[in-house]
Amino acid sequence: MKIVLLGPPASGKGTMAEMLSHEYNIPWISAGDVLRRESRKDTELGRWLREELKTGRLIPPDIVNELVNQELSNLDSWIIDGYPRDMDQARYMDEHNKPELVVLINIPRKVSEIRILYRRQCPKCGATYNLKTKPPKKDNICDYCGSRLIQRNDDKPEVLEKRWSEYINKTLRVINHYKMQGLVVEVNGDQSIMDEYKEFKEKLKAKGLLKE
Ligand SMILES: [Zn+2]
Repeated sequence: MKIVLLGPPASGKGTMAEMLSHEYNIPWISAGDVLRRESRKDTELGRWLREELKTGRLIPPDIVNELVNQELSNLDSWIIDGYPRDMDQARYMDEHNKPELVVLINIPRKVSEIRILYRRQCPKCGATYNLKTKPPKKDNICDYCGSRLIQRNDDKPEVLEKRWSEYINKTLRVINHYKMQGLVVEVNGDQSIMDEYKEFKEKLKAKGLLKE
């Protein structure tokens, strides 16, 4: 199967990709991983990428497109999440690795906000909490190791705002582009991980991409 998973921030698309990849042994590709792996190589591109990633600069889109699609072209079967996120990437992908199906994992903005803004992490053991839906027993203290919990920079309101505006201004166009080709199925991301995964697999079976 060759499938793309798209959806708003914190819809669970990465988790769905990971679970399916493990259960069915299908390579799971993420654009970020492809860049990080390339940056560890001792080549001119690798050294350059290492610097760019370290300083947090945005990697030029044509380089991302080329590396991601090179990786996909070497595989018979793949799942990718969070890519293509704009129409330039979608057009590039249409030429090189057209997906068989695009799964939209959808959640309302309010749910996305609660998942992200209230997320806290233990800097020591990595345990994650949500102050609204899965709070620690003691305020701001990790249940397992007693460390003080932190909020990751990615989970701050200004970053959330930026990710949502990117989703609305760019990624929704990509979803519409695939909808017009009849390639999109939707999964409700506002349910438990297990129920979400069950619905995800049912949608793939209905399309003949997974065996009953
Ligand atoms: Zn901890």
